[in-house]
Amino acid sequence: MPNRIKGTSVSTGLAIAPVHVVTSGADEIPTFTVGEGRIDAEIARLEEALASASAELDRRREIVASQAGPKEAEIFGVQKLVLQDPGALEQVQSAIREQRINAESAVKLLIDRLSQTLGKLGEDQSRGFVADVSEPWKRVLDALLNRDREAVLSVGEKVVVAAAELTPRTVTYFSREYLLGVICEVGGRYSHGAVLARALGIPCVVGVPNLLARLEQDMIVAVDGDRGFLQLSPSDEDEAEFEERLIGRQERASSMAELALSPAETSDGAKLTVKANIEGLRDLDTFDIATIDGVGLFRTEFLYMERNQFPSEEEQYRVYRRVLERLDGKPVTMRTLDIGADKKLPYFKTPHEPNPALGWRGLRIALGWSDLMRVQLRALMRASVHGNLRILLPMVTSLEEVREVHKLYDLLRKELVSQGYDVAEHVPVGAMIEVPSSFLTLRHLIKEVDFVSVGTNDLVQYLLAVDRDNPWVANLFEPYHPAVLMALKYVASTTREAGKSCGVCGDMAADPATAVMLLGMGFDSISAAAHFAPEIKHAVRSVTMEEAEELAKRLDEQAESQAVRGILEEFGERFDLTVDALRFGGKA
Ligand code: PEP
Ligand code: MG
Repeated sequence: MPNRIKGTSVSTGLAIAPVHVVTSGADEIPTFTVGEGRIDAEIARLEEALASASAELDRRREIVASQAGPKEAEIFGVQKLVLQDPGALEQVQSAIREQRINAESAVKLLIDRLSQTLGKLGEDQSRGFVADVSEPWKRVLDALLNRDREAVLSVGEKVVVAAAELTPRTVTYFSREYLLGVICEVGGRYSHGAVLARALGIPCVVGVPNLLARLEQDMIVAVDGDRGFLQLSPSDEDEAEFEERLIGRQERASSMAELALSPAETSDGAKLTVKANIEGLRDLDTFDIATIDGVGLFRTEFLYMERNQFPSEEEQYRVYRRVLERLDGKPVTMRTLDIGADKKLPYFKTPHEPNPALGWRGLRIALGWSDLMRVQLRALMRASVHGNLRILLPMVTSLEEVREVHKLYDLLRKELVSQGYDVAEHVPVGAMIEVPSSFLTLRHLIKEVDFVSVGTNDLVQYLLAVDRDNPWVANLFEPYHPAVLMALKYVASTTREAGKSCGVCGDMAADPATAVMLLGMGFDSISAAAHFAPEIKHAVRSVTMEEAEELAKRLDEQAESQAVRGILEEFGERFDLTVDALRFGGKA
């Protein structure tokens, strides 16, 4: 098929819609090709943005003149003159016409050119001047970007988003109702952008070099997250085939809907607890709580990431309490703040780190800035009387860290009680196992925690020395590496020997055959985005515990990840299991 491009799926599902190119980072400008017939419309977009930037400058000039005087307001008049320079406008227009690039890119080229030319004047002489002449053009850029986004939202158009890189911003650029699919030139399969795409159930394909240059804004694109393909401008025939597959998918989903209300229990009575990973209170409106056994991972950092300042104890308390109440007695595992690496807070500037994955993140930040931990633990403890709370610590690397948290916890508990707050008698505290040192010392650690949950996204990263956010090594990120399976098996047996509960909340648990493997290894619970629950339950209900154990044993004997994948493939076919994107098609 022409225009069919092979990529790597990071989230399953099918989508077909006009494409909308966006930026992956706040400072980046999207570049795409403008079709021959759309050049005049693109120039009209530029002119509209120019007019809007000029009007904004007039508005500012008036405000400053009335508040500080006409002299201070002069700068805005000068900036407006810069925008009226016919030479500059001509350069931008001809870039759009001749290079057939979008207005944002053409304006960016002008800004870069101005900086280069004026940069040659010498540092001191030019610095202020470059800022002056580029500033008004940056306003034009902002106008272009904002209008574009607003235009999509105002008509309520559903789109496929395209970007250079898969980041959390790409996946949340539009709310879920407008966003049918995501396609990117690069993206780590276990990056937080990918984790979010899966959590939101957005079909997503990455690993398509030079994608943006091949796209035109609003071109129809079909995203095949099940097979890892894209189809640009599909023919009527292709569209019809795609629609047919979409219907097939919907039919399967509705046939699973009823099953989702039953427990994940093998035909011989072994149970796997299936919980949901959530990023916030809103997620609870996107699925039926009756289909899950609890929340296995509430990534509380998203509460911090969505705000302009640290959420107060009161704000956090209200959210935690509401989540616990909504779960109505089912267990809710809330993970303490896990920021760092690609999960950044816009208002919390941390120093640049050459190796952020090995740097200041997770528990290290929370304990380093103990006020952060104090506020969160107080909020959690206050909420604890409103449901079945469990606290989970991210990025645990040593027993000392856990002891430090316990000390703080005991202190804060006394403080709260003396202040007249009700606090649950016992709140289980668990450790995430995602750093090799934590599973290597698990026999000590397990004595001082109530449960463990394996974060395979990070565990794979640290075991295999592959940065989960670095698209250049995405093909080396292999959750089915025998070393990973060995670690998983060890965690399950050590935890069970200690009589404690062990789960997996990393993304590999979402794959139905993998969930059966984890059950066979001895894990008692898994947690994944809620929409995976029906297929996982179907998988568990299709097998006996003996079959699950046999599968785990066979996989444990394999020396190569490809062999592990092959066995899972066969197993899935035998029991009519779906395949999650992360296992589909092998490596990126
Ligand atoms: C993990 O590392 O597997 C995990 C569940 O946490 P996160 O993806 O938020 O780092
Ligand atoms: Mg993690």
